[in-house]
Amino acid sequence: MTNPVQAPALVELKAVNKHYGALHVLQDINLQVKKGEVVVVIGPSGSGKSTLCRTINRLETIDDGSITIEGKELPKEGKDLATLRADVGMVFQSFNLFAHKTILENVTLGPIKVKGVSKADADKQALALLERVGVGHQSAKLPAQLSGGQQQRVAIARALAMKPKVMLFDEPTSALDPEMINEVLDVMVELAKEGMTMVVVTHEMGFARKAGDRVVFMADGQIVEEATPDEFFTNPQSARAKDFLSKIL
Ligand code: ADP
Ligand code: MG
Repeated sequence: MTNPVQAPALVELKAVNKHYGALHVLQDINLQVKKGEVVVVIGPSGSGKSTLCRTINRLETIDDGSITIEGKELPKEGKDLATLRADVGMVFQSFNLFAHKTILENVTLGPIKVKGVSKADADKQALALLERVGVGHQSAKLPAQLSGGQQQRVAIARALAMKPKVMLFDEPTSALDPEMINEVLDVMVELAKEGMTMVVVTHEMGFARKAGDRVVFMADGQIVEEATPDEFFTNPQSARAKDFLSKIL
């Protein structure tokens, strides 16, 4: 018998712990995300999902354990940190676009400032990305002139413009009006199909089933359960997961 070749983890968290004062917000978290994998993180409010995302691009520090991207520890500061932020794209619940910059400028700023791309090249790439997420014709507008769904798609384009190795999404549709949720999820499903490595905090079961390779269920700072989306939604194992699903489904 030969051993199957193990794809190395693109993102790996080993025994990660974090406290906010007395609150043990991440408790001994072990998680591997392989290249091309889509991991959906689900769990009650306050369970540590956002904190988990924020530690992966080092918006938050950890107390102990290790986080590696392609085997390399996260950098602590300086230029390496800017490179890490480029490698790890993040899309937040509240789009976080620069209000006083045009849609195009929102997308080109990172590549020009952090990656040293020329304005002409950055513009060209940004327009192609905006086209891809369906807002190409809005590039000269300001964020406030766009709907929430459109702004969130711009936020996705902005993260993609840095050519990230992995994309983190923290409840990207939970601030949107219902009719705009699918236009954002559709872009994410496409991204997943194209092979992007993704960590997605969401309670959108349709997305998890369509695009998710694995569901990670968190409660009280711990990973309580990991399963395929089908297994998780039809046959959750833990009492915590059963209780949570009975409330959201
Ligand atoms: P989730 O995203 O699953 O709702 P969070 O990661 O946002 O959970 O928060 C987990 C817990 O940590 C919550 O109890 C929250 O109040 C607390 N928390 C989050 N950020 C901070 C912070 N900067 N300082 C202190 N406590 C925080
Ligand atoms: Mg959160």
